[in-house]
Amino acid sequence: MLAVFLLGVAIWAFGALLGAPVRLRLGLLAGLWLVVVLINLTLPEDASLRLATGGDVRPWLVLALAAGAIWAYRQGLSVLRRRAHPTEPAEPTEPATKAPLFSEAELNRYARHMMLREVGGPGQKRLKQAKVLVIGAGGLGSPALLYLAAAGVGTIGVIDDDTVEGSNLQRQIIHADDRIGMPKVHSAAQQMQAINPFITVNPYHRRLSPEDAEVLFADYDLILDGTDNFDTRYLTNQTAVKLGKPLIAAAITQWEGQISLYDPAQDGPCFACVFPERPAEGLVPSCAEAGVIAPLPGVLGSMMALEAIKALTGAGETLRGALLIYDGLYGETRRISVKRHAGCPVCGNGG
Ligand SMILES: [Zn+2]
Repeated sequence: MLAVFLLGVAIWAFGALLGAPVRLRLGLLAGLWLVVVLINLTLPEDASLRLATGGDVRPWLVLALAAGAIWAYRQGLSVLRRRAHPTEPAEPTEPATKAPLFSEAELNRYARHMMLREVGGPGQKRLKQAKVLVIGAGGLGSPALLYLAAAGVGTIGVIDDDTVEGSNLQRQIIHADDRIGMPKVHSAAQQMQAINPFITVNPYHRRLSPEDAEVLFADYDLILDGTDNFDTRYLTNQTAVKLGKPLIAAAITQWEGQISLYDPAQDGPCFACVFPERPAEGLVPSCAEAGVIAPLPGVLGSMMALEAIKALTGAGETLRGALLIYDGLYGETRRISVKRHAGCPVCGNGG
């Protein structure tokens, strides 16, 4: 009987030495067990081979029962473990048919968004699938573009006909001294891709024109206006209203800025409802004429990006129907409610 055990141990050890799989070694042991049982069942009681293997079949049956009990116990444990950790499947599940939306590097990059209840995985997915067009790569456009890129907005268009000048760099933080003379949209695209290589940037080096505004806007879900001239502002509003695209527009001068979300498609006012007439020439001085404090476009441009993220993910409450005014010189904010104008020539029946 001892000889049989020694043979079993030898099979196991030799199999391990050769690197035989556990299943094969267990199979060999089961085969050995079967031979021994057959010897004890079939040979006469005084046969030397039967005497050498115990002479009785019962201890071998008890051994098999014990092995069966151990196997059942281990199976039970693994079932319990799987129930406690359902995310760790013990068996490989069927392979995924398509690539996951986010790579490991992206999941790590957006981890601080994922843990926000209002954004989370679904919100980040909406950002990745969103297309946002930013008009102007200047003071407001700089932080807006940088944060939209960093936040993971999947496709960002930027249109501007200017080139980078030394006097821009006091506040237009997306550009750099060694890119003076470069078209602003290319300088901006370069910086955005440097921050986030996982997004697509579409630069348009031209001034927004009535001819191509509609075609351009049609490709995007949301429009951000950070320009400083009224022609472009009214053209942008008109086109956004016509195509039913929400528009986030901000404006700054000296120490003060304002921002709102214009969305007549959701029954909010349009830009022309709130500012029906452009101010008389020279009444509202531009930044070039009146000056602007460096961080002010940073405040309002960042607000544009934040409001864009809210509009795209559905988090919180947007600035639809509200004009937010920030006075940097006195550190004050005011929020004025603004309404849709029935006689508005752009979004109402006045046109
Ligand atoms: Zn209107």
